[in-house]
Amino acid sequence: MDVDIERLADILTPYIILRKTADAVSVSHALAARTGMGKKEIQDFLDTNHTVFDSPNSLHHTVSLPSKDGQGLDCTFTTTIIRNTQIIAFSETGQPVFEGGACIPETLATMARYSPSACLIGENGIIVYANDALHKLIMHEPSDLMGSQLIRIISRQSREAFIRACDKGLQDPEGIIPPGDLILTPAGERRVFVSMKGGWLKRDKGNLLWMVLNDVTEQVMLMRKIREQEEQFSDLFHVPHIGLLYVNPRGMITSCNAFVSNLMGYAREEIQGSSFTKFVAPHEEQRLREEFQKLFVEGSEIHHRECVLRTREGDDITIEYDAQVISRKKHNIQALMVFSDITGKKALEMELLEKNAEMEKTLWEMAEVKDALEARAGELNRATEELKVLNERLNQLSITDGLTEIYNHRHFQDRLSEEVERVQRSKDSVVSLLILDIDDFKHFNDTYGHQCGDMVLKQLAGILRNNVRSIDVLARYGGEEFAVVLPSADTEEAANVAERICEAVRSTPFSFGEGTSVKVTVSIGVGSLTRGQGEKSELIRKADNALYAAKAKWKDRVEVWEED
Ligand code: GH3
Ligand code: MG
Ligand code: MG
Repeated sequence: MDVDIERLADILTPYIILRKTADAVSVSHALAARTGMGKKEIQDFLDTNHTVFDSPNSLHHTVSLPSKDGQGLDCTFTTTIIRNTQIIAFSETGQPVFEGGACIPETLATMARYSPSACLIGENGIIVYANDALHKLIMHEPSDLMGSQLIRIISRQSREAFIRACDKGLQDPEGIIPPGDLILTPAGERRVFVSMKGGWLKRDKGNLLWMVLNDVTEQVMLMRKIREQEEQFSDLFHVPHIGLLYVNPRGMITSCNAFVSNLMGYAREEIQGSSFTKFVAPHEEQRLREEFQKLFVEGSEIHHRECVLRTREGDDITIEYDAQVISRKKHNIQALMVFSDITGKKALEMELLEKNAEMEKTLWEMAEVKDALEARAGELNRATEELKVLNERLNQLSITDGLTEIYNHRHFQDRLSEEVERVQRSKDSVVSLLILDIDDFKHFNDTYGHQCGDMVLKQLAGILRNNVRSIDVLARYGGEEFAVVLPSADTEEAANVAERICEAVRSTPFSFGEGTSVKVTVSIGVGSLTRGQGEKSELIRKADNALYAAKAKWKDRVEVWEED
């Protein structure tokens, strides 16, 4: 410890003792002269009163020092320990304040009471005293701090303000300098923020500046963080495309972001302070009011609700919103409402719904048309079927003889043509033809009448049908003449069939009306045709000629055409 005791005595008080641990190390001249005590006596005195002096930072104690005149010297004293050295500074009781430095221990005591960091500075800016707390704050060695320029530990940006404050203090009648904040530059990279109070001690020997410094670094840092967060929040609050507004329990909007004001066409100042319902479409007012009242009562949350706002221009905007009760400040309950503009989305939804409905309608109509078409197609199918049946029937009728219900002459001709063509295409093929004529039918008609004659014709057709193959073509050739085409049957086979028919007719009694039964006979001519033997007419001619021959030979017989 290299504190110059006489220098301290000069600035603080004339009566100073410096001691290291329990050993008195030095006594100021003035104190030695006033008390007549040397180091040894002082040591004894301190030892005797060690309970009084041993506390590291005694404040404003009183003690009676021995004096040369033996009357004793009543003093107040202050002790301060800087590193290992205890400074004990005495001032005589009753000395006027701010005179001759005698009050300084008391000032130090006061300073130490109100602030852990304190210092005294000479008019020339030299630190003459700095307490332990200040040393710790600045982290300088005491020897560094004491005797050095104060300005050295004040950051550049605070210096001007500090000097101005000191000047102001000099002009103040009580020497008080305006309190303010300083940034100190301690050892290392750190910066220490302090709030400073101080004043000038005006003395004959030169003014002293006392300063108490409160470390507010933590508060400053905290405030900065809060400010940063507030800025961040402010950025968030003004996020684009999202509406944010605070509503108080009375339904008044207390703040809103720029998006809300742009969307609604009102200045933020016009929105803030207005009732929320002023901005909603009239039909929504009541619902919104009740919803928010409920929200505040229950402290609940609202999610994904929709409502319609009305802008200054009178346009309706659909929003989707969430709302939640929050406490922005204590005793200041607010609801935060967050929303997005879904007008476009809504319009699109409506358009889609309409399109959907239209499409559904079209689909229905199409389904109806389809049903109708299907029904019509069914009808057509049925009609076609009926037509087919009718056609078939018509076709059948066109080739059938009305009386005997066997093929008619035209169909006979067609089928005979086909068979003859077939024979002419194939060398092994043959076709035969029977032509049959009822014997003496004119006479029959004359005897029994035409109606009975017709009945005979019908019955005869039945006998013929029973005596031919399914592939043979049986037809009514003319009035009472019949023809049978026998595909693939040669002359012999055909003659057999003709004989069989002739015999069947002969042995069948034809009956008509009231038990009358008559015998009928037929004559049959047989002709055959193979490839190269001529046309259809040739075959007919053969059968015809054979028939003619049969008639010529007593009738009721079969005659086969033979080449002459
Ligand atoms: P023939 O033995 O020589 O054949 O003597 P025919 O009397 O039968 O002579 P022909 O064959 O020339 O006679 C045909 C008669 O057949 C004339 C007509 O009275 C009768 N005839 C023709 N067509 C029909 C008919 O559709 N119904 C009736 N009932 N008689 C018919
Ligand atoms: Mg005839
Ligand atoms: Mg006849």
